[in-house]
Amino acid sequence: MSKYEVIIIGGGPAGLTSGLYASRAGLKSLLIERGIFGGQIVNARQVDNYPGFPEGISGFELASLMHEQAAKYGLETVNTEVMSLKPGPVYTIVTSGDNYEAETVIITAGSENRKLGVPGEAELLGQGVSYCATCDGFLFRDMNVAVVGGGDTAITDAMELSEHASKVYLIHRRDQLRASQILQQKALSRPKLQPIWNSVVEEVIGDTRVNGLQLRNVKTGEISKLDVAGVFVAIGIIPNSQAFADIVELDEAGLIKTNELMATSKPGIFAAGDIRTNSPRQVAGAVGDGATAALSAFKYLSEKV
Ligand code: NAP
Repeated sequence: MSKYEVIIIGGGPAGLTSGLYASRAGLKSLLIERGIFGGQIVNARQVDNYPGFPEGISGFELASLMHEQAAKYGLETVNTEVMSLKPGPVYTIVTSGDNYEAETVIITAGSENRKLGVPGEAELLGQGVSYCATCDGFLFRDMNVAVVGGGDTAITDAMELSEHASKVYLIHRRDQLRASQILQQKALSRPKLQPIWNSVVEEVIGDTRVNGLQLRNVKTGEISKLDVAGVFVAIGIIPNSQAFADIVELDEAGLIKTNELMATSKPGIFAAGDIRTNSPRQVAGAVGDGATAALSAFKYLSEKV
């Protein structure tokens, strides 16, 4: 079984940055990715909020550059799926291919946005369908948009969007929001924000771009069309943490609990990026987390007796 000082699980911006820092620190490092290197950003046509690229950069290109930079300093990578992580002192990473041993592990497996699962949602992704108001809200200046969901993310997204859009509809499947009272009060007092209660999206309408939503009132059964140029889906996230649930502590949402050094509840296991509690879920944040986690892993190895 091959043995490494650091094994990184997940090849998004957090993982690739951990890999860059770990390999530059001279640690024998392996990054395991089950899909495409770059993670969620490879789907972003244009990333405008990552510093250093004033004209923006495609998510795919940004991910490729991050991968190339880490590989230049000796990061090894393998394409396989991690099935489980067995307890230390030397951790065993069981994959669908080979197994590996690691003195430290950095989990950067990310999370996925929960989908509505309705017609048009996948087809019009990036053409008016978005899961990130911070990333895409700017594109909807003076337009009508909708946010789906009733939690803190939906409310903060709706408030952020009301800075750009002319009207923000908040579509929620019940008549009570899940979001904190203080956020609810702030949001619902905004004149641009209009809640649509007891309603679900049945279809995202549009040929090449979103031009509306088909809604169904779950109380009355009434079907209606809402004219919007964009829809922001904020109905929760699904962390890719199942394989690690037995070994590190998770919060109630399934995200990995870390401290400010990205240390988890288990010595020698670190977590970074969207898979950790309180992640800002931004590329810049993931990159910062990834660097911190690698530096913490280096310190852990240096102090280990
Ligand atoms: P969340 O709290 O799980 O809320 C998800 C919302 O989406 C709920 O209102 C839920 O409706 C709705 N929903 C779920 N599945 C749906 C579906 N298939 N169709 C329609 N609606 C659906 O998720 P979140 O808002 O992303 O928040 C996650 C965590 O991050 C929370 O702990 C939150 O407090 C925290 N957070 C905090 C802040 C802050 O500023 N303090 C900001 C963002 C997030 P129901 O209510 O009917 O279940």
